[in-house]
Amino acid sequence: MKAAYYDGPGQLRVAETEPVMPGPGEAQVRVAYTGICGTDLHIFHGKMDRRVKIPQIMGHELSGTIAAVGAGVKGLAVGQRATVMPLDWCGECPACRAGHTHICQRLKFLGIDTPGAFQSFWNVPARAVVPLPDDFPLRRGALIEPAAVACHDLRMAGLRANELAVVIGGGPIGALIAQAARAAGARVIVAEINAARQALLRELGLEVVDPRAEDLTQRVETASEGAGADVVFEVSAQPAGIAAALKLPRTRGRIVVVGIFSEPPPVDLFRVFWRELRLIGARVYEREDFEAAVRWAAHHGNDIERLISAVYPIEQISDAFHRLEAGGDVMKVLVRCGPEP
Ligand SMILES: [Zn+2]
Ligand SMILES: [Zn+2]
Repeated sequence: MKAAYYDGPGQLRVAETEPVMPGPGEAQVRVAYTGICGTDLHIFHGKMDRRVKIPQIMGHELSGTIAAVGAGVKGLAVGQRATVMPLDWCGECPACRAGHTHICQRLKFLGIDTPGAFQSFWNVPARAVVPLPDDFPLRRGALIEPAAVACHDLRMAGLRANELAVVIGGGPIGALIAQAARAAGARVIVAEINAARQALLRELGLEVVDPRAEDLTQRVETASEGAGADVVFEVSAQPAGIAAALKLPRTRGRIVVVGIFSEPPPVDLFRVFWRELRLIGARVYEREDFEAAVRWAAHHGNDIERLISAVYPIEQISDAFHRLEAGGDVMKVLVRCGPEP
């Protein structure tokens, strides 16, 4: 089998290794495709060297089939298609006891805090496995993890049909939020500055604003007869993005913070006070979000698969990372880690 190791900033090495049988309570996934996440790129750039263990196998957005199960694992069949909710929680901390295992105070993220899915066979806790329908296309399966992020964001927003939603940042997560919001019956406006991404979003039938060329606040005011947006999803993680987000909601509108800000941005709290806004954090997902994403992708799969810009074999994983890092016309890049069944 093959595995890709992160050896330090900018260095990825593919090596031949032996698969390890799954331990008690584990499942072994024969990995088909693994998507490259922004977090993986962050690790590749050396920004998380204090957290990962070098050499680190990255990757957490995958699809595949169950290859084997360890002792005591029930309900998973060998050959079954699956994806993985890449979280491992302690079950004992106050957050877990309150039912919020996805934001466990000692949360381990599989593929960051443990070895990940850029390898042919991946052993994970069996409870992390999310089954896919038998005929589910595996390329699409690799997009279920980011789609589950979008489903969680919508749920945290309490988004309802006929509401006006604005998505700030039209990368893979923003595009999935916009598509999921539209599927939920909302009217959606996406703000994105990258021309290639704008073009793809428009091809997908989404309403797109380039905030450098047009006044976003004005567009939202016009669309809502002066009321403002019901929900704003801040996905860009840029100070300009959160500044724009504060200007857009109606009275008692909601702002969902999806983007991961590495530095604290200035936030106009007067605006929060004045319009009685709700500022909502949304981090990763829960199992019901994965299940919602699988149901959604079963019906809107073609739109979701259009976000895949390129697929590279694992031997060329460095090229895949460089393609994503170069930006431009790229949305989602997948790595093929094994044969399609
Ligand atoms: Zn990710
Ligand atoms: Zn916990």
